[in-house]
Amino acid sequence: MPLDISALAPSQPAAQAFLARGDHPMLLGDRWVPSASGQWMQAVNPATGEVLGRFPDGDATDADRAVAVARAAFGSGAWAGLTPSARAKVLWRAAELIEQHIDELAELETLDQGKPYWVGRYAEIPGAAEQFRFFAGQAQRIEGQTLPTSINYQPAGKQLFAYTMKQPVGVVAAIVPWNSPLVLTAMKLAPALAAGCCVVLKPAEDTSLTALRLGELLCEAGLPPGVLNIVTGRGDVVGAALAAHPDVDKISFTGSTAVGRAVLAAAGGNLKKVTLELGGKSPVVVMPDADIDAAIEGAANAIFFNSGQVCVAGSRLYVHREVFDRVVHGVAEIARGLKLGHGLDPATKIGPLVSPKQAQRVHRYVQQALADGAEALAGGNPEGPLGPHGTFIEPTVLVQVRPDMACVREEIFGPVVVATPVDSLEEALALANDSIYGLAASVWTSDLSTAHRAAALLKSGTVWINCHLMFDASLPIGGVQQSGWGRESGQAAVENFLELKTVCAVV
Ligand code: NAD
Repeated sequence: MPLDISALAPSQPAAQAFLARGDHPMLLGDRWVPSASGQWMQAVNPATGEVLGRFPDGDATDADRAVAVARAAFGSGAWAGLTPSARAKVLWRAAELIEQHIDELAELETLDQGKPYWVGRYAEIPGAAEQFRFFAGQAQRIEGQTLPTSINYQPAGKQLFAYTMKQPVGVVAAIVPWNSPLVLTAMKLAPALAAGCCVVLKPAEDTSLTALRLGELLCEAGLPPGVLNIVTGRGDVVGAALAAHPDVDKISFTGSTAVGRAVLAAAGGNLKKVTLELGGKSPVVVMPDADIDAAIEGAANAIFFNSGQVCVAGSRLYVHREVFDRVVHGVAEIARGLKLGHGLDPATKIGPLVSPKQAQRVHRYVQQALADGAEALAGGNPEGPLGPHGTFIEPTVLVQVRPDMACVREEIFGPVVVATPVDSLEEALALANDSIYGLAASVWTSDLSTAHRAAALLKSGTVWINCHLMFDASLPIGGVQQSGWGRESGQAAVENFLELKTVCAVV
């Protein structure tokens, strides 16, 4: 099926100037350098296949160099030794610079990742700025406690004075996926830097450009040299080298559950601290007493936003039988009306998937589901991904699915929702909880008891009530079960990057 996608150029002079550089080296201390091997990778616009520029194809040597620079910077105290207020000022300035460059960053993100411009401009890039602003505040709230003890064998006439202090964990490797590159990077950098850590950042190989531009803005914000280093390259090379590196103290990983497991195994060598933000298969539960129009719109947005490439995408829809037909046909109607296009076209609602490989993967899931007996109320074309680069998938609504089908059990990471009727809240919760994942869920109802019972019983790191995809720097996000370990955003996130020390003194 033909889908006409013409190349569109960025309108922002700053975005044009960035792309005109062609080569985008990586950050080592205060130098922007090629890889040690001299190899480069191409940044490709997934909508059109056009090459946007090159970035270094780093390897283990580059990872070693970056870790050594980060270690030296950490040891120097140039960052952790600053006052909390001084660190906060840099983070706050970073937020301001992101906002000043918001149009440029949103255009670059669209070109590199494919997402509609408005997704970056009004959700993700402001979200990245808010991470730095929120954690600027947290940098000044890293506190220990004084501890009353019951020890009764201190020397005669003396007293015990015990307290805790929190100290930065050290050198952090931050590994980021491709679906929302800038905001997911900010969700790691802001708390790690607030804590006083030094970081080696490894962006995803499909989307490295905005991470490199963010690195420039952080340098401009006043981050001392070596506190942030960026090594671009392939996950199984640079990412694996960082995960196994004996001089990395902490891995903060966001990506698939399978790679998360490999990262965890590699981190065992020196028992690195590990946080994992992994995959999901998030349920959306709609009860008959809900505002059904709002639920239809919310369920559609939960799966089609960012072409379904969202870890918390509402990819399983459980709807009470009384309203099932109305809801699924409503979602399918929205799906059919969403305009596929180049992310820089203002009319575009659905951009491409990040790569032909990812689009083929999603296409295979849909075709397998249809072969297994599912019915497509929207999408499902058998001919393969659309567009000049083979990256567009029509928004797809599948019904007549069974709980054992791959499309119900596995994360597809594309604009595909599977819908199942249920007869009660209990049945909806049982099906929703029948998953190895547990990242997020939403329940749509006008009954308070139903809402809060569902919130308590859903096995999920986040539960939204009458909404989905509500993010804020203040709201912890992360998974239970195989969706991960730990939380990002919120006050808890900075703890990921701190060690607790107990001090007990005879005074
Ligand atoms: P991925 O796991 O393939 O890659 C993620 C990152 O890990 C990339 O930078 C990649 O280069 C790197 N990597 C790959 N192999 C590695 C290895 N052996 N060792 C170390 N690093 C390695 O994931 P993806 O396809 O880029 O992203 C999609 C996945 O990310 C989905 O599963 C999605 O649910 C998940 N995700 C989770 C969250 C969350 O907050 N829980 C947020 C966004 C995305």
